[in-house]
Amino acid sequence: MKIKKVLIANRGEIALRIMRSCKEMGIATVAVYSEADKFSPHVTYADEAYLVGPPPSSESYLREDYLIEIAKKSGTDAIHPGYGFLSENARFAKKVSDAGLIFIGPSPEAIEVMGSKLAAKAAVAQYDIPLVPGTEEAITDIPAAKVLAEQIGYPILIKASAGGGGKGMRVVEIPDDFEEQMDRAVSEATSSFGDGSVFIEKFINSPRHIEIQVLGDQQGNVVYLFERECSVQRRHQKVIEEAPSAVVDAEKRRKMGEAAIGVAKSCNYQGAGTVEFIMDEQLNFYFLEMNTRLQVEHPVTEEITGVDLVKEQILIAEGNSLSFKQEDLKINGHSLEVRVYAEDPKNNFLPDIGKLSTYKRPQGVGIRVDDGFEEGMDIPIYYDPMIAKLITHGKDRNEAIRRMIRAIDEFEIVGIETTLSFCKFVLQHDAFTSGNFDTKFVEKHFKPELLNEPLSVEEEKILALLASKLSKEAKSAHLPSNSGSSEIKESAWRRNRQHLS
Ligand code: ADP
Ligand code: ADP
Ligand code: MG
Repeated sequence: MKIKKVLIANRGEIALRIMRSCKEMGIATVAVYSEADKFSPHVTYADEAYLVGPPPSSESYLREDYLIEIAKKSGTDAIHPGYGFLSENARFAKKVSDAGLIFIGPSPEAIEVMGSKLAAKAAVAQYDIPLVPGTEEAITDIPAAKVLAEQIGYPILIKASAGGGGKGMRVVEIPDDFEEQMDRAVSEATSSFGDGSVFIEKFINSPRHIEIQVLGDQQGNVVYLFERECSVQRRHQKVIEEAPSAVVDAEKRRKMGEAAIGVAKSCNYQGAGTVEFIMDEQLNFYFLEMNTRLQVEHPVTEEITGVDLVKEQILIAEGNSLSFKQEDLKINGHSLEVRVYAEDPKNNFLPDIGKLSTYKRPQGVGIRVDDGFEEGMDIPIYYDPMIAKLITHGKDRNEAIRRMIRAIDEFEIVGIETTLSFCKFVLQHDAFTSGNFDTKFVEKHFKPELLNEPLSVEEEKILALLASKLSKEAKSAHLPSNSGSSEIKESAWRRNRQHLS
C-alpha cells in the first residue's frame, strides 16, 4: 500500500530527518510537539502539527493512545517512531496496527524479543552466533550464580535484561562484592525498566563496540550495510561514530554481516535495524543486542553506501521488496559523526542547559549537519541533551577526520558548553588517528585539562595584531610597551576564546 501521510511520533533532529525523506517521496507529514517544543523547527517544517501536552515525555511524546487518535483524525496512514520514546515499545507498535495504521518498523513480536537481552540470546541460539560467555537465563539463585561467575572469571558484568541507553550495567571486580552488586542491580533494573531480570556476562576488558546495519523486507530478504565503529563513549553511550571501522577487514566484515543477518532472521526482522557486537583485543566479536529501530548514528552508513535509510524503511513498510541485493552494496569512502551534546566535557560531561545565543553551522564539501535547533532557542531540560549531529564524508579516513576538525572549528556555539571540544581532542589524538582505541578511550586518554589546547595559527595572528595595536597605543601615550593593560586584555581574550571553542 502506498503511504501518503506520516505522523512522526518524535521531536528534534530525528523528526526533521524523517520529514525530509518524506518530502522527497511526496509524502505529507504530521508533527506532534510538547509545550516545550512549540517553536521547534520540526513543528514548522511539517505540513500539520499538533500539540500533545506539557513538556514531560510521559505527558506528551509517550501518550500512545492520544498519538494514535491524532494520526486517525488527521487522516494519516503510518506512524514513524524515530529513536528513543516509543520506538522500541512493542505494545505501541501493536496498538498502531490494531488501529489500522502502519507502524514504520518491525513487528511487535520482533521488538519484544530483541527488547529483552535474554530473549534475544535465546532467539539467536540456533544461528551459530558468537555470544559473550555468561548466563543464558535470568538469575534467581544468587549462590548458584556466584559459582557461575567464578567459572566465567572476574571481572564480570551484571546486566539488566531490559536495559538500554547505557543504563542497567554493573561491573563486579571481586567475588566479595558479588551479593551486594547483585542486590543493587536487581533493584535498579526494577525501578528503571520495570523488570528485575538480570544476567551475568564476562566483562570484556577494553572492548570495541562495532555494529552492523541491516535492512529486511516483508518478503524475507535481509542485507547488511556494513559496520559502524562506536567505541568512543562516555557512560557507555556513544559520542563519535564512524564507518567503516579502521580495524575490520573484508573477511571480518563479511563474517559480522552474515552473523547480523542471522540475528535479523531469528526474529523475522522487517525494516532497518542494528545488530550490536562487542569486539575483544584479538578481534573476536560477540553479539550484544539488536536495536529494532533507526539508530542515532545511521547517517555514517548513509554517507558510505548512498542509501537513504528512512526511505528504505518507508518502502519496506509499504510492502515493497528491497530494490538491491547484497552484492550491489559498496563502501564509498569514509564517514564520521560527532554528537554535539549540551554537556560540559571539562566537568564530567554534566548536562549544560541554556540558550543557544550564537549558533552557526559549518558548511562546505562533505559536511552534513542533522539538528533540530536554531540560534536563540533554549535547550529544554526535559529531553536528551543532544543539540546536533555533525557528519563528514571523505575519500578516506584521513580526509574524513581532517574535514571533521575543520567543521568543528567552523561550528560556532555560544551560550552552552558542548562536547565539540572533546570531540576535536579525540580526533587529534594518536590513539584515534592510528585506529588503536576502544571503549575505554575516555578513561585511558582524556583529562579535562587537556582541553586547554594551544592556539591555532589564526588565533596567534589575532593575538599578535592585538598586542602590536596595544603596544602602539601605549607608545603614543608614553607608557612602557608591555604594560599591564595589554596583558589583561590578552588574557581576557584567551578566556573568551575558551567559550568559543
Ligand atoms: P544509539 O544506540 O542509537 O546510540 P541509544 O541506544 O543510546 O542510541 O538510544 C537512543 C535514544 O534512546 C537515546 O536518546 C537514549 O537516551 C534513548 N533510550 C534508549 N533506550 C532507552 C531506555 N531503555 N530507557 C530510556 N531511554 C532510552
Ligand atoms: P545498551 O542496551 O545500554 O546499549 P549494550 O549491551 O549495547 O547496552 O552495551 C552498551 C555498552 O556497554 C557497550 O557499547 C560497551 O561499551 C559496554 N559493554 C556491554 N557489554 C559489555 C561486556 N560484556 N564487557 C565490557 N563492556 C560491555
Ligand atoms: Mg546497545
